[in-house]
Amino acid sequence: MAREPLVDGHGRRIGDLRVSVTDRCNFRCQYCMPAEGLPWLERSEVLTFEEIERLVALLSSMGVRDVRLTGGEPLVRRDLPRLVGMLRPLVDDLSVTTNGFLLERDAEALVRAGVTRWNVSVDSLQRDRFFELTRRDALGRVLAGLEHLATFPEAHPIKINAVGLRGFTEDEVLPFAAFAREHPYEVRFIEFMPLDADHAWDLDKVLTGEEIRAAVHEHFPLEAEPREPHSTARTYRFADGRGRIGFINPVSEPFCGDCNRIRLTADGRLRTCLFSLNETDLRAPLRAGASDAELEKTIRDAVWRKELKHRVNDPGFVQPARTMSAIGG
Ligand code: SAM
Ligand code: SF4
Repeated sequence: MAREPLVDGHGRRIGDLRVSVTDRCNFRCQYCMPAEGLPWLERSEVLTFEEIERLVALLSSMGVRDVRLTGGEPLVRRDLPRLVGMLRPLVDDLSVTTNGFLLERDAEALVRAGVTRWNVSVDSLQRDRFFELTRRDALGRVLAGLEHLATFPEAHPIKINAVGLRGFTEDEVLPFAAFAREHPYEVRFIEFMPLDADHAWDLDKVLTGEEIRAAVHEHFPLEAEPREPHSTARTYRFADGRGRIGFINPVSEPFCGDCNRIRLTADGRLRTCLFSLNETDLRAPLRAGASDAELEKTIRDAVWRKELKHRVNDPGFVQPARTMSAIGG
């Protein structure tokens, strides 16, 4: 049954949902998790696949057609292909963001179940630096997983996410540019955001997309591609036609104006912005037997209050209590 479109109080039509399927992760990336991990949710606190399916079906009937599964590390939920199979008929695009560690095990089942787009996070192409940043000696395994994924034609185009950290990423920029030219992957640099567990974020630690773009352009000339509506990335092709590269610049060039995205945390909270200080519990009404009409009203009320923009660059900015891993990046 089709419902009225889901719109916020600023007139933005919501079409994109990120679903965190778990807060757990097998990595401990410095910009996301503390070395010792976080207190994980109890299994009973995490939404079941059936609960996620019900919410996605409802949101889909209100016009949400792009869903991305994330976490934590989504592939640590072993039966993720089952969820993909359940959600696939409900949406146009069903993508996954993963650290790649379990791709050799799961890529085939996930591709067959219907994942339409892939983002694999890789922050360094050097083993020791990858270890330093993720606190796992896993670069070889991640690259093997990526190669395995790339053997499936349906998995392309594959995007590689790398967080831009000043004092770290500078040395990765040209190797990643070369990597994007030699492989069928689009590398995307993402600016470091204040969503780390250690609260060590500082504007000075953000290596901006523009700085990286300029450094790449000096060696490998780039040509801008037109920005697609709602896109978070600025993309460029290498002028000689070999490959593409992208920049997600939420700190230096916020793209809140046409943000059409909402998020569902693993414990069933609806978040209308990465940096929201408020969230709306959907799990309690879901488990108390709420009707679709009741859930719809709760969702519409929350979405109506969606933040106009984030305040990262404003004095007095308050970092949300949840880390990126607990929100679902
Ligand atoms: N574990 C999966 C992964 O790493 O791809 C999915 C979840 S992770 C939270 C999603 C994305 O958020 C990753 O690309 C990661 O690099 C990014 N991320 C995490 N913390 C971040 C931060 N503080 N600033 C910018 N990006 C961040
Ligand atoms: Fe885990 Fe992804 Fe956070 Fe790294 S960025 S700790 S892989 S959730």
